[in-house]
Amino acid sequence: MSDKEIGIVYLVGAGPGDPELITLKALRCIEAAEVLVFDALANPVLLEYAAEDCELIDAGKRAKDHKLTQDETNALLAEHALAGKIVVRLKGGDPYVFGRGSEEGIYLHERGIPVEIVPGITAAMAGPAYAGIPVTHRNVATTVTFITGHEDPTKDATQTDYRGLSLLAQKGGTLCFYMGMGRLPNIVEELTKHGLSPDTPAGVVQWGTLPKQRSLRAPLNELADAVNEAGLGAPAIIIVGPVCDVDTDHALDWFEHRPLFGQTVVITRTRHQASALRQELEDLGATVLEAPTIEIVEPDDRQRHMNRTYLDQLADGKFDWLILTSVNGVWAMKDEWEQLDLDSRWLSKLRVATIGDATADAFEQEFNIRPDLVPTKFVAESLAAELIAAENMKGKRVLMLRADIARPLLREKLEAAGAEVVDAPVYITQQAASLPEDVVEAIRDGVVDWITFTSSSTVSNFVELLGKDRAALDRVKVASIGPITSNTVRELGLTVTTEADPHTIPGLVDALVDAVAASRG
Ligand code: SAH
Repeated sequence: MSDKEIGIVYLVGAGPGDPELITLKALRCIEAAEVLVFDALANPVLLEYAAEDCELIDAGKRAKDHKLTQDETNALLAEHALAGKIVVRLKGGDPYVFGRGSEEGIYLHERGIPVEIVPGITAAMAGPAYAGIPVTHRNVATTVTFITGHEDPTKDATQTDYRGLSLLAQKGGTLCFYMGMGRLPNIVEELTKHGLSPDTPAGVVQWGTLPKQRSLRAPLNELADAVNEAGLGAPAIIIVGPVCDVDTDHALDWFEHRPLFGQTVVITRTRHQASALRQELEDLGATVLEAPTIEIVEPDDRQRHMNRTYLDQLADGKFDWLILTSVNGVWAMKDEWEQLDLDSRWLSKLRVATIGDATADAFEQEFNIRPDLVPTKFVAESLAAELIAAENMKGKRVLMLRADIARPLLREKLEAAGAEVVDAPVYITQQAASLPEDVVEAIRDGVVDWITFTSSSTVSNFVELLGKDRAALDRVKVASIGPITSNTVRELGLTVTTEADPHTIPGLVDALVDAVAASRG
């Protein structure tokens, strides 16, 4: 086999958990991968960046739960690389920090396979950082040591020098134990036996940097009890040293103090629309579950043909106003507009009204035109009232591009004011076939705190799709985007805990934050 036919293996650090803590280089490797072999501790969200035809292999190497042995993993990497593939070996944290990355690298090199390393942020740097513990501090800690707690410290054969560790820690140095939770009492005993003071500050961070992160601090001799009481377990980093007490005022302890930390929130928007809301909620600390209740599809051919005729007329200046009531409508129009080979110049004389800032922003982004009218309240009633107040609508031709299920109110009001309205359904909303199983399970298990509804149809669809599990919804608080959605919630026998004002996604997020703050007192 000539060299040219051999592929390459990238040993890539996925970072500690929070998928955004991956490096740009690692992301580029994932995107380029033809075969991706990943660990249990690499966040599965990152796999979404892989190409559609990339082969994904779970090497799930969590202790006691070996899916592939190390030899099998090595052989697998070699096999694919020798077949000419770009192979990415994605590991939690950093590939060389207790990750056996070097063993894999040497094995591959011995077989003539090129290997490159992409370091990652390791758990003992990121976990403590997200729990308000800086691993070094100029006044107290001049060393930091990463230790595997996997070894039995009471065995004679241990390679870990607890006397040396104890000496480092006595001078204020920081000790970070990986894989140590199963042996926490032994670790404490060995350190104190070798002279480290039992009241040395210590801490534990479990699932560091993830929404489910939990952490605590306690003096060394109380640490094991505190961990038991709080029910903390693996995967966790144990930190020993005065750095654990540096942040007495919780100045650095931002992560677990974010407004929605610890809250599990279900969002019911379409996949396409969910991402912005998801990002905002996650940035505020929430665990977000997506349950799209609606799918957006194109209208049938006959309707599309009619829509095109209307858009042709629009370009010909046959309409005075264009009304868009949703971002989906903007996207649907843009699609057709491009198919018709038209651009924004054809809209230059037209006046445009949108409901909602998000719709206005989408329109500006797609067409480079700022809408003329965005009503102060983002409902059809306001748009009709403000349009009619702004000008005499008598004889004006209005094209509305909307969903097939839009309320007739806007059309009726404008027609009553003398306008000639063409109401074109440019996209069809249909109920999703089912809810994702993990969401149904989470609701059943009572782990969901909130569900957000952004339209009446999301409410009715969600309740219908939930079917027999509906009773479990009684334990879930509802955040609604506005009065119309709230009415539907109540009609279906549920209670609205908080309602957005303004009736926008940012308004909904604010309402959620306020409600959580109020419940925490
Ligand atoms: N290569 C990884 C470590 C693998 S060993 C890295 O650089 O981080 C596995 C151990 O890492 C776990 O037992 C735990 O001690 C630690 N660990 C990994 N992810 C963690 C997380 N999100 N929070 C706390 N500890 C974590």
